[in-house]
Amino acid sequence: MKIARRVNEVPPYLFVEISRKIAEKRSQGIEVISFGIGDPDLATPANVIEELRLTSLDTPNHRYPESDGLPEFKYAVSNWYDKRFGVSLDPDSEVVSLIGAKEGIGHAAFCFIEPGDVALIPDPGYPVYSVGTLFAGGDSYMMPLSEDNAWLPNLDSIPEEIARKSTVMWLNYPNNPTSAVATLEYFEKVVAFAKKYNIAIMHDACYTEIAYDGYEPPSFLQAYGAKDVGIEFHSLSKTYNMTGWRLGMAVGNPEMINSLMVIKSNLDSGVPQAIQHMGIEAMNESKDILDHRIGIYQSRRDRVVSTLTDAGLKVSTPKASLYVWASVPDGYNSARFSEILLEDRNVLVSPGSGYGKNGEGYIRLSLTIPEEQLEEGLRRMSDWKIPATS
Ligand SMILES: *Cc1c(COP(=O)(O)O)cnc(C)c1O
Repeated sequence: MKIARRVNEVPPYLFVEISRKIAEKRSQGIEVISFGIGDPDLATPANVIEELRLTSLDTPNHRYPESDGLPEFKYAVSNWYDKRFGVSLDPDSEVVSLIGAKEGIGHAAFCFIEPGDVALIPDPGYPVYSVGTLFAGGDSYMMPLSEDNAWLPNLDSIPEEIARKSTVMWLNYPNNPTSAVATLEYFEKVVAFAKKYNIAIMHDACYTEIAYDGYEPPSFLQAYGAKDVGIEFHSLSKTYNMTGWRLGMAVGNPEMINSLMVIKSNLDSGVPQAIQHMGIEAMNESKDILDHRIGIYQSRRDRVVSTLTDAGLKVSTPKASLYVWASVPDGYNSARFSEILLEDRNVLVSPGSGYGKNGEGYIRLSLTIPEEQLEEGLRRMSDWKIPATS
């Protein structure tokens, strides 16, 4: 049979390779400690599960959901955005529920990208931005992120002819994998750039609630004029330990939200309603319960940063996100360093180069690892003499 080219053109999903390595070690009887995958280890809050149990009994929730989302869910999202960011959203026209942010990000490419169009994509970055672009037949222009530009795309260095051909720009702050954050002033420069070149901005805001030391990351939609040019993707996954339930939302510019709804309503039938009820319950959570979870991540963050620093790696303490981004010692590249760490210590980290060319020279460690394994992983690394490269 003929397999469409786009299928074979997809680069292997990084985590598939990681899972394969773990399985290989396990078959040799070796337990690998994995800092590889960003998937909260803690349980979904009990009240949220209880809401699923109750609402799953209601017959209307057994039927097809309304594909743009339950009105109550969209209302809860709009309330949450108002309370958290002071951003007002019309629940009917400016909010759509998603089967996780990933689904929305992938489908959004079909709304704004045609063959010949260019998508501006951060490198390193979450792989779905460029894969979505590939599926939609567009060309990716990678915007290099580096320590020198604080991991924020330098808008002035995007060539004029590329900017003119671009229809979308992807951004993601707090950032995966670099854990960088953006200011409102930066977002305002993005709005001006978008208006100048008529570019749709798609901001992936999955990590705005995972922040430390009292820092509160902004929403792109707080930037003046943002709703004229963009939408924001958000997710219940990371904030409420709900990756397995698949629930997110896109919010912002009504014309863009409507386009996403057109694509989605023709390809999926929305989020199961009982799961949207879980989301409503989750978004009603009080700040101290979230703060308790943040405290757990913050303690992990501090221990990981200190162990890596002691081992001689250069690390900056993340203000937000679930990741520690560290540069590998001189003489190593990301893949080689990760390989040696796995061979010598049976500890798995993600090579930064897996997130794009500009991730080379870095590794990513995820903080979503159960306490005992975290301690064991840190122990394995703490007395490790990093071999000199020959
Ligand atoms: C985890 C993650 C997502 C996906 O979130 P879901 O709502 O679970 O699909 C999207 N973007 C980034 C950057 C992520 O790290």
